[in-house]
Amino acid sequence: MVDAHRTFVIVGGGLAGAKAAETLRAEGFSGRVILIGDERDHPYERPPLSKGYLAGKEERDSVFAHETAWYAGADVELHLGQPVTAIDREARSVRLGDNTVIHYDRLLLATGAEPRRLDIPGTDLVGVHHLRRLAHADRLRNVLAALGRDNGHLVIAGAGWIGLEVASAARGYGAEVTVVEPEQSPLHQVIGPEVGQIFTDLHREHGVRFHFGARLTEIVGQDGLVLAARTDDGEEHPAHDVLAAIGAAPRSALADAAGLAMADRAHGGGIAVDASLRTSDPHIFAAGDVAAVLHPLLGTRLRVEHWANALNSGPAAARAMLGQEVAYDRVPYFFSDQYDLGLEYSGWAPPGSYDQVVIRGDAGKREFIAFWLKDRKVLAGMNVNVWDVTEHIQRLVRSGRRIDPHALGDPSVPLETLL
Ligand SMILES: Cc1cc2nc3c(=O)[nH]c(=O)nc-3n(C[C@H](O)[C@H](O)[C@H](O)COP(=O)(O)OP(=O)(O)OC[C@H]3O[C@@H](n4cnc5c(N)ncnc54)[C@H](O)[C@@H]3O)c2cc1C
Repeated sequence: MVDAHRTFVIVGGGLAGAKAAETLRAEGFSGRVILIGDERDHPYERPPLSKGYLAGKEERDSVFAHETAWYAGADVELHLGQPVTAIDREARSVRLGDNTVIHYDRLLLATGAEPRRLDIPGTDLVGVHHLRRLAHADRLRNVLAALGRDNGHLVIAGAGWIGLEVASAARGYGAEVTVVEPEQSPLHQVIGPEVGQIFTDLHREHGVRFHFGARLTEIVGQDGLVLAARTDDGEEHPAHDVLAAIGAAPRSALADAAGLAMADRAHGGGIAVDASLRTSDPHIFAAGDVAAVLHPLLGTRLRVEHWANALNSGPAAARAMLGQEVAYDRVPYFFSDQYDLGLEYSGWAPPGSYDQVVIRGDAGKREFIAFWLKDRKVLAGMNVNVWDVTEHIQRLVRSGRRIDPHALGDPSVPLETLL
């Protein structure tokens, strides 16, 4: 029996929200749990949207966080297809798009992020796409299949993770792919130029064209359809469709309007939370892509836009809402799959933060671990087609100890002996 005297409301029906609801019940919370999401689909995982599902290798049903019947079974009240439009912190209530007002004792904001838009002429043409939602992936999947059939051209703005994964899926369908990227290498902000070259080679071998050092300035169309994409160096690239994969912005407007403290833009924006994922209002918490956490391990405010962060911070926030002691200090982690290359990355080492890159293994064969170091301390490690090493890599990152780079780069020295 649900105890109607206590109500925990979760705004955002993504992975963080769904996992928070699951944890509240697993921890024995007996009050009302209300999950409100503006998408019509039940909460789902987004990684397959640019990989298996997009490539036509996974079923649509496989992406959902829980089976539909789970919500009723766990007494989680769902309001789907309903945006929360306002938070009244004084009254402790949220207002929905249909003007329903719901009281909360504790509120979790798990509103995620949204794709950044290209601010150039032509973005209203039919063939211009973004990829965040299942509905976007449904559409893009059909587009890629059609491009493959007709030898059509896809131009992707941005050589980040989503841009590269879509490039891989598109080549799988046989579409012609050009990736336009302002930096000189892919994934620049995450892995820097040293390791970026490996991804340039990988995609070129699979027939992807890169146009580095340039930005899209216009999408040229006729009768509402895309014809070409122009870059700021005066080049025109044939295109039937264009994907804007230029990053995501936190969906924090709701929290901002309610007067909650925000992280500054230099730290990626988002809702500022402490290590227990509590916002500047003690009754309100935030988790997932939207939360900028004061990270106890890294000593900085960090907003992580990755699956594992949604998976783990949703439950951590739920425990904090229940009054448990929480210090969210996970080593940031993500994974990616492109063609026959799979990788996992642990840590945080944007360009400028490291002074050495150590490769352990065979980068030419794409079976290696890359480490980013500062003063011989491991800031991050990425295992490429090498498995079951994440725990060791994370221990190296977590330890903050100085490690001998020669031993680190030598595959005959077991990783676990380096600490
Ligand atoms: C195509 C794609 C591929 C990805 N691949 C990987 C990968 O390979 N590895 C990896 O580590 N990460 C990957 N990610 C990132 C990962 O999916 C995200 O980090 C994760 O989805 C974040 O979960 P979340 O619950 O915080 O936010 P979201 O999943 O964005 O969910 C937030 C939900 O809240 C809803 N919402 C927002 N505002 C409101 C409101 N006011 N009222 C009601 N509802 C609202 C949103 O519509 C959304 O449904 C990928 C992301 C995308 C888009």
